[in-house]
This record gives sequence, structure tokens and C-alpha cells, in this order.
Amino acid sequence: MEFVEQLKASVDIVKVIGEYVPLRKAGPNRYAGRCPFHTEKTPSFSVSSQHQYYKCFGCDAKGDVIKFVMEFHHLTFPEALKDLAERNGIPMPVRQEYHNTESKLRNALYEMHEIAVRAFRANLNGPAGGDARAYLQKRGLSAAAIEHFELGFSDRSGQDMVKQLRQFPAEQLEVSGLVGKREGGGYYDRFRGRLMFPIHDESGKAIGFGGRALGAGEEPKYLNSAETAIYKKSTILYNLHRAKDAIRKAGRVVLVEGYMDVIGVYSAGVRNVIASCGTALTSGQVRSARRHSENMVVNFDPDTAGANATERSIQMLLDERMHVRVLQLDGGLDPDEYVKQFGAETYQEKLENASGYFLWLAERARKKFDMRTSDGRIAGLKFLLPAIERVSDKLERAMVAGEVADYLGIERGLVLDEFRKTAVKGQTRPAAKPAPALSMSERILVRSLVADAGVRAVLVPRLRASPILENYASRAILAVIFALHDNEPDFTFHALEERLDEGQSSLLAETVLADNTDEVFTREQADSYLRMLELEERKAAMGVLRARLKQAERAGDMPEAFRLMQKMTELGRPVERGIEPGV
Ligand SMILES: [Zn+2]
Repeated sequence: MEFVEQLKASVDIVKVIGEYVPLRKAGPNRYAGRCPFHTEKTPSFSVSSQHQYYKCFGCDAKGDVIKFVMEFHHLTFPEALKDLAERNGIPMPVRQEYHNTESKLRNALYEMHEIAVRAFRANLNGPAGGDARAYLQKRGLSAAAIEHFELGFSDRSGQDMVKQLRQFPAEQLEVSGLVGKREGGGYYDRFRGRLMFPIHDESGKAIGFGGRALGAGEEPKYLNSAETAIYKKSTILYNLHRAKDAIRKAGRVVLVEGYMDVIGVYSAGVRNVIASCGTALTSGQVRSARRHSENMVVNFDPDTAGANATERSIQMLLDERMHVRVLQLDGGLDPDEYVKQFGAETYQEKLENASGYFLWLAERARKKFDMRTSDGRIAGLKFLLPAIERVSDKLERAMVAGEVADYLGIERGLVLDEFRKTAVKGQTRPAAKPAPALSMSERILVRSLVADAGVRAVLVPRLRASPILENYASRAILAVIFALHDNEPDFTFHALEERLDEGQSSLLAETVLADNTDEVFTREQADSYLRMLELEERKAAMGVLRARLKQAERAGDMPEAFRLMQKMTELGRPVERGIEPGV
């Protein structure tokens, strides 16, 4: 067997996708969830265990397990094979085509980051790591937390990493993000004398670092890895690979500002916590989080920068249809300080009771603008309008608008007026195509033919000869099934799908992957389907004869009329017999 086929046969697409997308059972062989490739409110992402195939009815993402791994992790085909094989303990055949330059580079980068994590950790525990250890102790980090988060220290000499990575060729070294190139030739460490936080992708591989300066006034305070072939900043969230299970369990993401907050909160036992890696929150990051839960509590630092970041994040989160609440801790404490002072339980309670983002924004508007003047109130309203517009549910939006008016002391009518002015440019997704008109039996027929080579062997020869199929909306799909049946009797759903044009392909997907049922013909039902087919054929043939008979009678061609009547009688007889059981 081809390696690709062997690989596909030994992994389960439901398990693979289920690692990244919460799936619920939607039929005997089918699972549904929210699409990881576009933002949606109701699940339109379907995964078939029977056909080992996924399909999104919202954005039309579709394919087999390899395609999913490619699209989801942004990998090339050979890389996806390798990823799947490695994770499932299947040995890869050594073949040149699986080792092109791009994947070679990525593998080298992963390896370099592994080496870097080890080297930084050794430094932290070594003689040079004294300051960093003292800092961590001052911040109250336990030895276990330092281990768990693989914290390290980058050597001050500026040559340590260069030495560690000397076995890699220049062209790989230069794009690693770990070293820089000197003007006069040679390399230097990008991170020097910093506390190092490894950043991982969702599968847990180290792909970059955040480095915190230890000296007072040292700039920048945080230095992060540059983008590389393995580190795409706009989609990576700090700690997501550790937090994702807890996020699903809790049904909630806790978003904090910094690495230390994540480590503090996580170590205290609140595990569903993540941070953006030293960047402003991006829509790609929100989507990465949203795959695990659509509820988020934003808990940034209680200073001006934190408040500004919260405000920006709220807009971003609402654009991606997240349910947002905001937690602002009392006493000017950041999350890390708060859990240390009050414990995880109190913090957990605070999370439970975090207020809706609207209250937080309204509160902010009141501080920003003078609510005693009508100009101030209008300015406050204008400040809040963008957030009101982003509430996607109509009723909820009207309610929020009313509450805001009350809160700001403005007439409700005024809010609605302002709102109508801006509400015109709504962002709606094109409506899903209407379901095609396939009868129930036609749907079951298509499903059965796709599912079972045995059923095909019984039905295809018979169907092929039937003129009735001309009236079937699925006739183009059936024609491809017949052709495949001749050439590769054990064809897969994927093979069939590939040969269809877009319209037929969606018709197939809707019939096989989105119906309320996965019902296929039993042997008996297949037989009665064939009998029904025969009846219809006779009916059609009878119709033709009847028309010709009329013509013959009108033309006064009696011999022809008798011949036709004779034929009709013959045709009628076996039908009567045919529907009697046991004949
Ligand atoms: Zn989609």
C-alpha cells in the first residue's frame, strides 16, 4: 500500500480534528463542531468518521485528514504526512520528496529551539543565572513552576547561542530568530542577559521566546522572537497548548497580559489562562482561542496601558463574535499578585462574577467624558456606539442600547437614532444555498452508493440501464460513481469528491455529510428500491405508449393502435406480479 494510504487508514480523522476542535456526535458516523477556518456562531463544520472527511458548510473548507493538518498547521503536504506519522508512531519511509528545503528548514528551526530551551535552562541553574533566580524568587515563583514553564536565562556574553547552534548552516541560522548577523561578519545572540520564556505552538513544540530584561531601565523590557517559518505571531497564544483542555472543561478562556500573569495564575490552579505573546491581540489569536471556547474573561493590568489594551481587545473580540467579560481586580493588583495575595479560590470567584464588557466600557466612558454636560453625554455615547454595533444579536443590541442610554442619562430615542445612522453597514455572511431537491429515497440511494462497495455491486449495473436516472438531480454524481465503480471499485469519498464540479460537490456533501440522518439501504431496502425503480420505468414507458396510441387513433392507423395496446398489456402484467411478495 502507498504510504499515504497506509497513513490515512491508520489515523482517525475524528480524533485528529477533535484535538483542536470540540466535536459533538451528530449522527451514527458523523460529528459536528465550529469551523476552525472561519468565525461562526452555529456549528456548520461536519466530520465524517465513515468517510474520513471534513467539510464546512459555511466557508467550504473540506478534505481528508492530511488536508486538515496542512490547512490547520499551515504545512506542506510532506510536512503534514510527517506530522501525522510522528504523532501516531508510524514510521515514515525515507524518500527525497518528503524532505524538501522548506520542511528541512522547519525541522532545523524546531531543533534549534529545543537546543535553545535546554541551553537557557542550564544557564538559569548555572553560575550566570544568579540575578534571574533572585528575580524569580522575588516574584514568588516556585521551583516547580520554573521547571514546568521551562524558564531560562540567556547568557550575557552574546556568543553562547551562536556556539550552541554552530552545527547549523548559515542560511538556517540567519532565519532562526535566535541569532543576528554582525555587520563585519559573524553572529551574535539576539537574547542577552534576559529571563527567557519559551513560547510553544498548540502541539507543544517550542517555536520562539519572550525575553525579559532584568536590569532596571534596560530597554526593551520585553524582547520577543522575530517571526520565522515556525513562529507566526498573529496566531500564537502563550500557554494555549497547556490551557486548552482546561479551557474546554471550564467553558471559558482567561486572557491576561503577560507571561508572569499566566504562570502565576496557572500555577495557583486556574489552568484555563493564556496571554498574547507580547503583541496586541490579533484576530488570528482570537480564533485560536475561540476554537476551544467562545467565552472569554479579559483580565489585564489595572493601569492605563492595561485599560487601553482592554478597550482594543474588546473590539477585536466582539468582531470575532466572542462573549466578552472584563475583570478588573481591586487594589490595583495584576492577576499574578492577586492570586498570590488572595488565593486561587477568590480569584476564581472573581472570574465567575466578572461583569459584561458593556458595564466596563460604560464605566470608562463616564470617566473619560463629563456626564454633567450634554456634549459629554453625546461624546460618551459615540464612544460606546462601535461596541453596541458589534453586538450581533438584534434584540440584545436594542437592550444594550437602552441600558447605555439609561446609564449615561440620555433619552433612549437619541441612542436609537444615532444607532440607526451607523447601523446600515452591517456585516452579514451570504446565506447558505438552499438544500437541493433530492427525494428521501434519492438521498438514501446516494449515501448507500457512496458508503458501500457491496451495495454498489448490486445496484450499479441495474441503475446504469435505467432511463429514470435522467430525472435525478444527483445524476451527475451517479455518473461519476459509475465510472469510479468500473476503475477503482474501492474508491473513497475523497476520490469521488475530487472528480465533481463545485455544485455537484456541495450537493454530495449536503446529502452525505449534513443530512439529519446517515441512513443507508439495508439489503431488503435496496431490493424494494429496485422494484420501485422498475415501477417507475414501466410508468414512464406506459406514458410513452399512451401518447403514441393517441396519435395512432387520431391518424386512424388501427393496426398500429392494436400493436401499441398489446404492448401496454404486456407491460402492465409483470408490474402486477412484480409487487407481490415472494415472486
Ligand atoms: Zn468554515
